[in-house]
Amino acid sequence: MISLKGKVAIVTGGTKGIGKGIADTLASYGAKVVVCSSKSRASKHHHVTANVSEWKDCQHLVENTIKKFGRVDILVNNAGIYPFQSFSKMSRQEWDKVMDVNLNGVFNTTKAVLPYMQKQKYGKIVNIASIAGTQVGFPGLVHYCTTKAGLMGFTRALALELIPFNIHVNAVAPGAIQTPGVKAGLTKDAAAGMIKIIPEGRMGKPAEIAETVAFLSSDAASYIMGQTIVVDGGFTDH
Ligand code: NAP
Repeated sequence: MISLKGKVAIVTGGTKGIGKGIADTLASYGAKVVVCSSKSRASKHHHVTANVSEWKDCQHLVENTIKKFGRVDILVNNAGIYPFQSFSKMSRQEWDKVMDVNLNGVFNTTKAVLPYMQKQKYGKIVNIASIAGTQVGFPGLVHYCTTKAGLMGFTRALALELIPFNIHVNAVAPGAIQTPGVKAGLTKDAAAGMIKIIPEGRMGKPAEIAETVAFLSSDAASYIMGQTIVVDGGFTDH
């Protein structure tokens, strides 16, 4: 049984797509949820405007959470971007932007929550990776695939450093999930081609990623650390 009653969670990029699904699901299991996005957005959860690439914003996000709820038990590093660009045309600025959000953002939020989690000797950190970081490459997303593979290494190594503080670090690697970001980035033909190779015969829903995140955020997953769980409707098995 998953229960997050009494727990306080931060979900980065929790205003739409997978992050919104995660925020709603964690709340449904009893957690108090704080979401952030880089722009001011409406949310039924407590919202803080914070660009994860900015250290000061991440400090503010965590301090605001502590001020509002007194603690932070769960951090879901979900905010991420995947702007399509061929490597031959990619500028160093375009490369850096993806590194800044998808990897440096995770550094910032994790560093900001750590003193609180270490002090309370309790924490769950769940990183949203991607099958783009496991065994599949995607043309036009070299920078993105690089960050998601990096995030899995981050997850494995950090899990070992933090387990003495009773902080569990894991990751979830979604396959193709129907979100505003994917809708904006994929043509209809590209989406249809992708669905053809997914054994489930459809893209996933944010809630289907969120259930695995909720499990990893709960004490039901007390003996799991450093893992990346693939949730992809069989995409990587086809
Ligand atoms: P999405 O629909 O584009 O939503 C992204 C969310 O992140 C929004 O709330 C956005 O709000 C926020 N965000 C973006 N940049 C941010 C920044 N610098 N600081 C703070 N918040 C930021 O994306 P999604 O498809 O749900 O993807 C969410 C995560 O899942 C990403 O890490 C992505 O790599 C991963 N993923 C997605 C898929 C998929 O098929 N959808 C598959 C594998 C992995 P603002 O725009 O207001 O900042």
